[in-house]
Amino acid sequence: MIDPASWHVYAIDMPLRFRGITQRQGMIARGQAGWTEWSPFLDYHAPETAAWLRAAEEVAEQGYPAPLRDRIEVNVTVPATDPATAHRLVTGSRCRTAKVKVAEPGQSLADDLARVEAVRDALGPDGKIRVDANGAWSVDEGERALRQLAHYDLEYAEQPCHSVEELADVRRRLARWDVLIAADESIRRTEDPYLVKRLEAADVAVLKVQPLGGVRACLRLAEDLGLAVVVSSAIETSVGLRAGIALAAALPQLPYACGLNTAPLLAADVVTDPLLARDGWIEVRDLTVDEQALRQTSADQETTTRWRGRLVAASRAVHDRTWRCSPGAVGV
Ligand SMILES: [Mg+2]
Repeated sequence: MIDPASWHVYAIDMPLRFRGITQRQGMIARGQAGWTEWSPFLDYHAPETAAWLRAAEEVAEQGYPAPLRDRIEVNVTVPATDPATAHRLVTGSRCRTAKVKVAEPGQSLADDLARVEAVRDALGPDGKIRVDANGAWSVDEGERALRQLAHYDLEYAEQPCHSVEELADVRRRLARWDVLIAADESIRRTEDPYLVKRLEAADVAVLKVQPLGGVRACLRLAEDLGLAVVVSSAIETSVGLRAGIALAAALPQLPYACGLNTAPLLAADVVTDPLLARDGWIEVRDLTVDEQALRQTSADQETTTRWRGRLVAASRAVHDRTWRCSPGAVGV
């Protein structure tokens, strides 16, 4: 267990609104095996935040499993912006795969179609496009939207609907349209991540290290699910992203570009050489935490106090046997 006093609380602005937030906050600490990050989103509470802490403690105490590859292909992430911004983001990234946010509250299918059209134009016919609805569509809405979006040739559609049953339904309806379905929230925010497999609800599993309790837990889950895996970030600093890189590097198969190119979504970082993609790839390499950057990104006193309280609650949940005996209870 990491000394609670050694955690540093950061608050970093985000140039583009993403996931409804404009500032990312979290904690960084150095353990025996290296630096680690704990950064559950502010709307997550214990015991769900305990899985995030188990992931952070694993990195601090055990480090990473041996890598099987030395670089990871990544996608550019396109928030629910206007088409011109989307085009510029994709062109500037030099990535060959783009993940486009769709079904944003307050926007229409026409907005989604215009954004995806701009992204297809930026990538050219050989680039790959995946869309992520974050569970916002009903089955009927998802079927209708994806049949239209499929004209732009989709690699897959991530979490089109909320529940696993809906996901299975929309997947069956879209089978003849060649739209593959990826499960994200249905795996990481559910009592039973294996329901996706039992109901044949997805073709692809999106795994995120912190919410799923660590790199090794994700490797076991990937093996048990038997689905193609895409590793994504939880919009962390490079310290948190490094754990996702470690998972992507250790998976036996990695058929898709990963969603780990999210350092550009933060206006600052805490390492000397952030994990930024070059020509669509991120190297598997060690990081050096920058003490000056740590100071510059320090949260104010009120935020720091709130995070220390969150850490105490998560730590109780991790180290309390009742929670440890029941994986569902920690929101795996
Ligand atoms: Mg997602």
